[in-house]
Amino acid sequence: MKNSPAVSLTPSKRVLFLTKDPELIRRQIAGELDLRMADLVVDDLLDDINTDVMTPAWVCFDYRPEDLARNAYAGLIVDGERLIPRDGLRNGQFEVIVSGYRKGVGSSRETAVQAEKWSGIRIAIAASFAPIHAANNVNQGVLMGDHEMLTRLQAGEEVPLVEFCRGYDSLTSSKIGHGGLFAFSRALASGEAEVPTVDTPTRPMTMAEKVLAAHAVNATDFVKPGDALVVRVDGGYSHEFTTAQVHYFLQQELGADYRLANPERFAVFEDHLIYADEVAKMRPFMDQIEELRRLQREFQAHTGVRDYSARDGVSPGICHEVARQELVAPGQFILATDSHTCMGGCNNALTWGVGATEYANLIATGVSTVEVPESIRFELRGELAEGVTAKDLMLHILLQYAKPQRTLNRVMEFGGEGLAMLSMDERATLTNMATECSARGAIAELDETAVTWLLSRRRDLTRDAILAAGVSPDPGAQYEGGVVEIDLGTIEPMVAHPGDPDRGIASDPTNGALVSDLGRVEIDIAYGGSCTAGKVDDLEFYHRVIAEAVAAGRQVAPNVEFLIQFGSRDVEEYCRSRGYLSTFEKAGVRLISPGCGACIGCGPGVSDRPNQVTVSAINRNYKGRSGPGRLYLASPLTVAASAFVGAITAYEPGMFGGMAS
Ligand code: SF4
Repeated sequence: MKNSPAVSLTPSKRVLFLTKDPELIRRQIAGELDLRMADLVVDDLLDDINTDVMTPAWVCFDYRPEDLARNAYAGLIVDGERLIPRDGLRNGQFEVIVSGYRKGVGSSRETAVQAEKWSGIRIAIAASFAPIHAANNVNQGVLMGDHEMLTRLQAGEEVPLVEFCRGYDSLTSSKIGHGGLFAFSRALASGEAEVPTVDTPTRPMTMAEKVLAAHAVNATDFVKPGDALVVRVDGGYSHEFTTAQVHYFLQQELGADYRLANPERFAVFEDHLIYADEVAKMRPFMDQIEELRRLQREFQAHTGVRDYSARDGVSPGICHEVARQELVAPGQFILATDSHTCMGGCNNALTWGVGATEYANLIATGVSTVEVPESIRFELRGELAEGVTAKDLMLHILLQYAKPQRTLNRVMEFGGEGLAMLSMDERATLTNMATECSARGAIAELDETAVTWLLSRRRDLTRDAILAAGVSPDPGAQYEGGVVEIDLGTIEPMVAHPGDPDRGIASDPTNGALVSDLGRVEIDIAYGGSCTAGKVDDLEFYHRVIAEAVAAGRQVAPNVEFLIQFGSRDVEEYCRSRGYLSTFEKAGVRLISPGCGACIGCGPGVSDRPNQVTVSAINRNYKGRSGPGRLYLASPLTVAASAFVGAITAYEPGMFGGMAS
């Protein structure tokens, strides 16, 4: 529905304030309390509400928005109980929801917005929004505003719609005005909406700007941050956690016989829920999960997109890991329905996650709209010390640059002679975790290492084609986030700790600390896997530590479960061919077939009690995402060393008193 040019509150509707004091939320939901912004300060409101809290994984097993909205905020748990019970948001007659900073961090799941919208919310108020979540709000037609606007609304003022469009480019503003992406697309098709021509003069460009300029259909050869572009999309993918919605939305929008123009450019993966039946908490949902799988198969058969389904119950691999090996090429613009799509940036491409609505629209039309983002460059120098990995570097970046929001909504550009010292798998760790930095995406420079790696895997690419399509930054390119020089030799083993709820410190990937400053933290679970840490080099890291431990006669510490999960079938095969599997088994490691798992709470390796402590090589430690326990993020080397010591410990060569042969 088109938004009115002046926005006001509906007298019969209410405003829900998500306060740091849970009792105030409980009373608002119970209908005992109505708050006013004028009586509060932003600091009273919850920050960093992540999308797993808004719609935990199990809520998304209901793919129809009207169904999943019944469990809005099911992950907001205090003292073991939901603060907002089933139907609580919908029955409260709320039309505005209010929170603090960085609303909607974490997974790109659009269900978080849908849960609010289908509960009656039409305005979300926050001090800032995570980029993908903000895009999802725009695509769903939910207005976003700040606390000052809310004060005026609650005082009875009408706030002009243009104020809700402030800071957005003209295409996004038009989407907001039309009430969402599908409505905007219909307006474009009927001529009611127009695409502006972008006429940015010649200027030096960053790598992200160059990729977007090359894909823009409404611009000349140059773009700058803030330009509103319609861009060709080279390809994309979805997985069984998201595909059912994409199919459902396309059927609703275009009819049951809808068709895709270029299905061969897109793919479906079966990777996210493949081992959910091994988690007791997930077993009650197996019928819904099976329905999601069935709908993905139906979508694949209907559209003819590339098929990466499981065979004999085993996934071909995590979508992002397989995509960077088989689908993503230098200079391309790739969008997929998962926040870690940014991992593909390691291939000198621009790749990021989008919600189901945007994905449905782009696979139907072949284009998407983009506001050219700003960039921040990381100029890497020197070399990582022995025992330090790209994961430690990224935990350092999260603490030093993401926490103070220097990466927020920007593209992180990685280059410099230090990047050349990192393998492609290590570069993939950097670009993968751009989403934890609340960045728009990440892109790594192209060099001989990248060209050789790509040619060894891709029959569809030639050296000439790679070099012609690849991008490098122009001298004089502008980085609004600055150019950050990092001497890799100064990086030490790091963790991100799970915060301190009593002091209001949420569990967050930006909670960086040196392992050496941590004190003794005993662990129950060590997990190595996920798109971040299930690659060949990660398995090499695990193997290096485990082989040393086995040579010294050590076993995984008593009371610790150490699980390793392969990122893809190829990674598993690599380990088998080198005899690593028997070393892992000798040490007492539990091996898990390729795919996603613990990091989404849907596979072996999740905690099942609040007092359990996990050290994990995954990418995010948001509360409750991988079970109720406390989760520390760390490098593959630290995870493996900790598994043998029984407490979080950085790896040092020879630490077990014997060396592998
Ligand atoms: S491995 Fe984990 S973080 Fe990566 S895509 Fe799968 S669920 Fe997401």
